[in-house]
Amino acid sequence: MGTLDGRVALVTGGSRGIGAAIATRLAAEGADVALTYVSREDRAAEVVAAIEGHGRKALAIRADSADTAAVAAAVDQAAATLGRLDVLVNNAGIFRAGPVDEFSVEDLDDLYAVHVRAVFAAVRAALPHLGEGGRIISIGSNLAERANRPGLAGYAASKAALLGLNRGLARDLGPRGITSVVVQPGPTDTDMNPADGQRAAASIAASAVGRYANADDIAATVAHLAGPAGRFITGSAVTVDGGLNA
Ligand code: NDP
Repeated sequence: MGTLDGRVALVTGGSRGIGAAIATRLAAEGADVALTYVSREDRAAEVVAAIEGHGRKALAIRADSADTAAVAAAVDQAAATLGRLDVLVNNAGIFRAGPVDEFSVEDLDDLYAVHVRAVFAAVRAALPHLGEGGRIISIGSNLAERANRPGLAGYAASKAALLGLNRGLARDLGPRGITSVVVQPGPTDTDMNPADGQRAAASIAASAVGRYANADDIAATVAHLAGPAGRFITGSAVTVDGGLNA
């Protein structure tokens, strides 16, 4: 018996990194899982196989989060194919950094499209499917609350906007028994931010625990929030950063 038996989840950006770990972990807890990807069909197929390895149904959908119509269609396809939708995980993300005088408005738009507009569109599309006990879990960043080096204005702003959206969603959806939370990873070993990358040593030194997160550290928190234990957590953000922001 898993904590998510009989539930159906959709994870955006589930083909690699944190999203892949979340999709696989939710399946291990008993959920059938759909995931979106934008380019890495091969990696999406690996995650589908991992979900099926847990005896669960899986579905991979190509859907660019920058295209709100594609996002809405993916939500509907996931619910139609897997029969229902209980958990929406807004994970797809991109990283852009640079000093503000070199950072373009187009870069800012790209960040907002994937980190804010796509989330809004996915929630709107998911609401007709989500019932009492529904969960919206959005992946933010510790940088929303502490831009700890230069060059992060655009990225931090886009992840901070997610916090405001999350608070508003909690107020709108609380009466319907649907929760909305943000999970804020710190530096996590993925293609976006490898543990042997340029910035890694400084991040590890600044953390309280002295290591990078791995994607499973983040997925464990998402699984907790998606299950019965998450029922009274809404409108808030859970920072999973090994004490980097402490
Ligand atoms: P990765 O770059 O490793 O993976 C990104 C995932 O998102 C892939 O599955 C990718 O699909 C998908 N994706 C990217 N752009 C789009 C798009 N336009 N439409 C649909 N899917 C898209 O990133 P991480 O796993 O590291 O990051 C996951 C989330 O966690 C992001 O929101 C990120 O901002 C956040 N985060 C990450 C941290 C880190 O240190 N890694 C720290 C804090 C927050 P495809 O495989 O097809 O390219």
